[in-house]
Amino acid sequence: MATRKRPARRSVPEGSAPEPRDESLDALRDAARDCKRCPLWKPATQTVFGEGPDDARVLVVGEQPGDREDLSGHPFVGPAGKLFDRALAELGIDRAGLYVTNAVKHFKFERRGKARLHKSPNASEQRACRLWLEGELARIRPAVVVCLGAIAARNVLGPAFRVTRQRGTWQELADGTRVFATVHPSAVLRARGGDEARRLAYRDFVADLALLLDL
Ligand code: SF4
Repeated sequence: MATRKRPARRSVPEGSAPEPRDESLDALRDAARDCKRCPLWKPATQTVFGEGPDDARVLVVGEQPGDREDLSGHPFVGPAGKLFDRALAELGIDRAGLYVTNAVKHFKFERRGKARLHKSPNASEQRACRLWLEGELARIRPAVVVCLGAIAARNVLGPAFRVTRQRGTWQELADGTRVFATVHPSAVLRARGGDEARRLAYRDFVADLALLLDL
């Protein structure tokens, strides 16, 4: 995937974001490009907004873009995204039909030598960014939301939700949207205990995603 240069930014005061020019998803995406509602925009290369059909029945939410996503401008294109693609392919699900996004739209990291290591967004960064996820949900109005990882799940299902205990079970939002959560694919890649532990973590991840076959 081609690496994009950092796009020119509109002048937006710190702590704010431009108003979308209209109610469309494209306008929301354009506005998010220049968001400065939290400090994460500064060290990152660019906003990584969601991608997929704007009438998708399934909206998938991850945590935040990673290193590859930050450079390319596309969600779920790094190692975790590849694992997600593999799991979908095993289930016969075409990712092109899904809308895929993140709870937080800029990559948060710390530098270690040349590497940029993932850091989890804090509560205030998640709160600032929720505007964009809420905007995506309101415009796409999916029948089903899939949360990948605890941060996605808490942003959609509330702070009491526990992925460890409640993963792979159908939940329902107040408006009737069906939701389930599973682990983030990066947790499968990082599973401790060697190849067998990773194989089991992957098997459970695919089993959770298989709920999509209920649709
Ligand atoms: S992480 Fe979200 S709220 Fe913070 S600057 Fe980026 S788009 Fe805006």
